[in-house]
Amino acid sequence: MTSPEKIKSVALGRELNADDIRFLLSLEDPEEIRILGALAYEVKKENVGNRVYYRGLIEFSNICSKDCLYCGIRKSNAEPRRFTMTALEIIDAAMFAYRNRYGSIVLQSGERTGKTFTGFITSTIRNIRAVTDGKLGITLSCGEQSRETYEEFFNAGAHRYLLRIETSDRELYGKLHPRDRYHDFDARMQCLRILKETGFQVGTGVMVGLPFQTIDHLVKDLIFIREIDADMIGLGPYIEHSQTPLYAYRDQLWPQKDRLMMTLKMIAVLRIMMKDINIASATALQAIDGFGRERALKYGANVIMPSLTPRDHRKDYLLYEDKPCIEEDREECKDCLETRIRMVGDEVGWDEWGDSLHFRNRKL
Ligand code: SAM
Ligand code: SF4
Repeated sequence: MTSPEKIKSVALGRELNADDIRFLLSLEDPEEIRILGALAYEVKKENVGNRVYYRGLIEFSNICSKDCLYCGIRKSNAEPRRFTMTALEIIDAAMFAYRNRYGSIVLQSGERTGKTFTGFITSTIRNIRAVTDGKLGITLSCGEQSRETYEEFFNAGAHRYLLRIETSDRELYGKLHPRDRYHDFDARMQCLRILKETGFQVGTGVMVGLPFQTIDHLVKDLIFIREIDADMIGLGPYIEHSQTPLYAYRDQLWPQKDRLMMTLKMIAVLRIMMKDINIASATALQAIDGFGRERALKYGANVIMPSLTPRDHRKDYLLYEDKPCIEEDREECKDCLETRIRMVGDEVGWDEWGDSLHFRNRKL
């Protein structure tokens, strides 16, 4: 067993290099992992406090022009009933967040670049700002778009954008996506740069426990996140979906519990590496462990995304199997979540945008 002193000296010593990160991600003994988590939680408390910020998640359309090999709503999956919420339905969900003092929402969808769709997003952002007096923070997660479109979204009033790189390894990226010009690693990278230039608080992230993925890939991911100087991170376990091509590799996957533990270690190491960023506790954690999202708070996460997608649509927005809270309504989610957050010793930042301190600091 590695001594607590050794874990502490690696984690809190010099700026972490690849060997240090590999050492920390390779810890396997539950007590060692607990020590790493406790160090990360202290770093979180000292730098961003113990307040958890809500981002009410509105998955407003499952129509997607892409075919990522891991995703349950990929274009070629004929199973989900395709939907786009109406402007009124989206505003109703946003108003729920506003009235219940969530502070912010995330508008997420499949990726489409046509003008009708992007224009719909722009007008929806404007409408949400109008009905909430500009008080509700708006994050977007609508995939790769042109510079002009990102600027249009930003000028309409969205101020954060989430675009996971999925993996920072070009070769692995190639194995997870069709090899065509619509699934281009460089184009995705370029989008992250443009988002930053546009003025967004930029979030990215990766999936953990993908087929063909090794610890070295994950080490590289964390270094990539530090190098691009992300403001926010959403990283979560990969979970298989039987109607996707990657399902054929399910026998090669780490057991789900190991993917969960590796995600928690990734969050902890990232918190230690980038003390003032926002780290979201991914919903996928909860699919593996009913208490997964709250555990992530103990490892350094400080953002939670309770679902505000209407119940009727949730079953058609299954990115992976066993997606949690498909039957619960948003009132139930709201009540149980605050209790759970308090149980881990954190508190909810009601009515606060909870912007990334890292963003603020890098703008100074
Ligand atoms: N279409 C946009 C995009 O891809 O950026 C936003 C929506 S997409 C559904 C949001 C995220 O879902 C992706 O970035 C990916 O990391 C995650 N995701 C998709 N399939 C998944 C799976 N099987 N397991 C875990 N996460 C998954
Ligand atoms: Fe579409 Fe996003 Fe799913 Fe890829 S991950 S298929 S872009 S919704």
